[in-house]
Amino acid sequence: METANKRDYYEVLGVKKDADQKEIKDSFRKLALKYHPDRNKEPDAEEKFKEIAEAYAVLSDPKKRKEYDNRGFAGVSGFSQEDLFGGINFDEIFGGGGFGFDLGGFGGGIFDTFFQRGHRGGMRGEDIRMEIVVPLRKIVTGGDEEVQISHPRVCPVCHGTGAASEKDIRVCQTCKGTGKLINTRQEGNVSYQEIRPCPDCGGRGRFIDKPCPKCHGSGRIDEPERLTITIPVGAEEGMVLRVPSHGRPSSKPEGKPGDLLVIVRTAYDPDFKRVGADLWHAETIELTDAVLGTELKVSTLEGSVSVTVPQGTQPNSVLRLADKGLPHFGDTKRGDLYLRLNVHIPDYLSDEERELYTKLRRLHAKG
Ligand SMILES: [Zn+2]
Ligand SMILES: [Zn+2]
Repeated sequence: METANKRDYYEVLGVKKDADQKEIKDSFRKLALKYHPDRNKEPDAEEKFKEIAEAYAVLSDPKKRKEYDNRGFAGVSGFSQEDLFGGINFDEIFGGGGFGFDLGGFGGGIFDTFFQRGHRGGMRGEDIRMEIVVPLRKIVTGGDEEVQISHPRVCPVCHGTGAASEKDIRVCQTCKGTGKLINTRQEGNVSYQEIRPCPDCGGRGRFIDKPCPKCHGSGRIDEPERLTITIPVGAEEGMVLRVPSHGRPSSKPEGKPGDLLVIVRTAYDPDFKRVGADLWHAETIELTDAVLGTELKVSTLEGSVSVTVPQGTQPNSVLRLADKGLPHFGDTKRGDLYLRLNVHIPDYLSDEERELYTKLRRLHAKG
């Protein structure tokens, strides 16, 4: 571990020297959620996150903490990443947090990525990234959404040959099934070999007279997998939900599969525009209501509320309805609902209205 320019672990976690294990864990969980690089797009979020994780790794282990208390960074500088993070159960820390979704994958996945835990015992398979479009109402309540991913697999009918049966495979006579043509030319004592793909079979070495009906001759099929993803309450735009081990398989038999990364996108909503945890909504009011003020019934994501429009409201003014926005992720706070008021200027007037407006104009001219 690098020890130059390091901040004190207690300071990193924002706890006192005599903090108990619960305080340390609570503070770590809060900070980890804040600086998780899947959520926090600040350039230094990843570094901050690592710093927090390291501080927690030391202070949560009574023996390491004692070493650190007695000797500072020197007391813990001998630990490898594995020594530090190996014994921490991230599932337990994040799982029971009451955030409405399984943070086990969230914690475990990110630590695997950061500290290369999943890379032992062979190459990890590739991660699959996909987007999930979530309606606003589901951001409010959280809940399950189904996604489908497809995994390319060897066709189970033809076992990858692409042919309907064995006898539908014909070996290319030009290259004798090798897919290659070799030209040898002699120049004095040196013989030159030129290898090129067989032009007849295109390098495949065989012809398929009748393709496999299952894979249509490709030898591979896409196998769909349906998965239920739990959307956390207040899921943020662009947030990445990690489903461990549902990515591509490893190329090595002992390697672990990659993860499935599901990126949250907010669905278009005709009534509400999302800006972080805030919502924007527009209403049009009559000119007379703008002038005199009125009570307005405004729909929110959870039922309608009554809003007082003050007298003398200007076109395009914005009213803020506190706490009527979306829940903040990992927090009990809520965003606000911003109400933009358009004012409708009458484009048709009855005789009586015209008379009244004319009278008003005369009044204004006098004033
Ligand atoms: Zn097939
Ligand atoms: Zn050939």
